[in-house]
Amino acid sequence: MREILHVQGGQCGNQIGSKFWEVICDEHGVDPSGKYNGDGSSDIQLERIDVYYNEASGGRYVPRAVLMDLEPGTMDSIRSGPIGQIFRPDNFVFGQSGAGNNWAKGHYTEGAELIDAVLDVVRKEAENCDCLQGFQVCHSLGGGTGSGMGTLLISKIREEYPDRMMMTFSVFPSPKVSDTVVEPYNATLSVHQLVENADECMVLDNEALYDICFRTLKLTTPSFGDLNHLISATMSGVTCCLRFPGQLNSDLRKLAVNLIPFPRLHFFMVGFAPLTSRGSQQYVSLTVPELTQQMWDAKNMMCAADPRHGRYLTASAMFRGKMSTKEVDEQMMNVQNKNSSYFVEWIPNNVKSSVCDIPPRGLKMSSTFIGNSTSIQEMFRRVSEQFTAMFRRKAFLHWYTGEGMDEMEFTEAESNMNDLVAEYQQYQDATVEDEEEYEGEEGLDENYET
Ligand code: GDP
Repeated sequence: MREILHVQGGQCGNQIGSKFWEVICDEHGVDPSGKYNGDGSSDIQLERIDVYYNEASGGRYVPRAVLMDLEPGTMDSIRSGPIGQIFRPDNFVFGQSGAGNNWAKGHYTEGAELIDAVLDVVRKEAENCDCLQGFQVCHSLGGGTGSGMGTLLISKIREEYPDRMMMTFSVFPSPKVSDTVVEPYNATLSVHQLVENADECMVLDNEALYDICFRTLKLTTPSFGDLNHLISATMSGVTCCLRFPGQLNSDLRKLAVNLIPFPRLHFFMVGFAPLTSRGSQQYVSLTVPELTQQMWDAKNMMCAADPRHGRYLTASAMFRGKMSTKEVDEQMMNVQNKNSSYFVEWIPNNVKSSVCDIPPRGLKMSSTFIGNSTSIQEMFRRVSEQFTAMFRRKAFLHWYTGEGMDEMEFTEAESNMNDLVAEYQQYQDATVEDEEEYEGEEGLDENYET
C-alpha cells in the first residue's frame, strides 16, 4: 500500500479540495456516509482505494484529508455540504483571525500559530500509513492562507518527511478573477517556496480557467463554481493513474521521474479534453483523434501560456474510457511526428501515454495531459511583471513588513522566479548540437593524448 496524504488550505484550497473528493468518491463508489455503494466493478473501484482513503470500522472509507484555514467560514460550508460528513471531524483545523490576503500573516504570524495543530493531525495520519508515498496540497497562491500557510506547511513537511514526495495543485492568480491587488506579491513569495520545497506542481491558472469558461464554454460571467468544475475534472484526471490499477505514472515518484529532467523545473501545464461546463457533459462525445487533438491544444491548457511559444521537455497523457490502446499510441505518435520541433530532441521518447478503463462521470471518454513545457515561463513572466510594477515603488510593502517580514525576502523571491524563467529559456534554446559540440571537444583532447 502506498498512501497519499491530502491537505487543503484556505478558501480556494478548501473549495477545490472538496470538489476533488466529491468527484473521486463518486468514481470509487464511496457514498457521502463513507460506505461502498459502487457500480459492481468493485475490483477496479476498490483495488487501490487505500491510496486516498483510510478504512474505518464498519467498512467505512474515510478520506485521508486534512483541512486547514485561518477562518471558519469555508470549512463550515464544507461540513454542511454534500460530502461534509465523510471527513474525519478531528481533521478540520481552523483559526478565527483570517489572513487578510496577506502572505506574511499566513506564513509568519497567524499561520505560524496554527501550524503545530495542523502538523499534529498530519503526523497522526502519517503514522497510520503502511508506507506513505507522499503528500498533495491544494491551495491558491494569491491569498494569505493557502499561499502563506500552505507553503509554511510544505516546508515543515519537507523537514519532517524529507524522503516523501510533495505534489501541489496550485491556483495562480489573475486580474481577470482577482480579489486584491497584492496577489502577485503573494504568488511570487509562494513560487519562491515551491521551487525549493515541492517536487511537482500542477499549475491551475485562473487566467486560463477564466478564458476557457468565457471563450470556449461561452459563459459570460464565470463563477468560481465554473472554474472549479474545470479544476476538479483535471484533478481527477491527473490522479487517475494513482488511484486505479495501471502501469504508467502509478505513483508520485514515477510521475516525477518521467516528467522532471531538472529538479527546479517541476511546474506542469495540465490540459483536459473534452472541455464541458457544469451539467453539460452528456452531450459531448469524441473520438480518439479528436481527444488527442484537443488535449494538445493551447485552448485546453489550464495555464495561460501557449505551448507553441516553447518546447516540451516531457509530457504524459492519460486517456480514460473504453478505447483501443493501439489507436491512442498511433494518434500520439502522429502529433509528435507532425510537431517534432515543439519537443526537445535531446530527450528521446519524452511523451508517454496510458489508458484507464474507467471514464469520468458523464463522459464516455476523456483525456488529461501533463506537460513540462518551457512556455510556462509566459505565466511566470506575467506574475513577475505585476510584482515588479508594485515592488519598484514599494507599494503595499508595509502590510508585509508590519508582520515582521524583511524587504530582502521580496528581492530574493523576485530573483528566484526570474532565474526560473531564465532556466526555462535556456532549455528551450538548447539543441542536440550544443551537446555534441561539447562532447566532441572533450573527445578530441583525449585522442590527442593517446
Ligand atoms: P486564502 O483563504 O487566504 O487562502 O485566500 P483565497 O484562497 O481566497 O485566495 C485568493 C486567491 O484565490 C485569488 O486569486 C482568488 O481569485 C482565488 N480563489 C479564491 N477562491 C477560489 C475558488 O474557489 N476557485 C478558484 N479557481 N480560485 C479561487
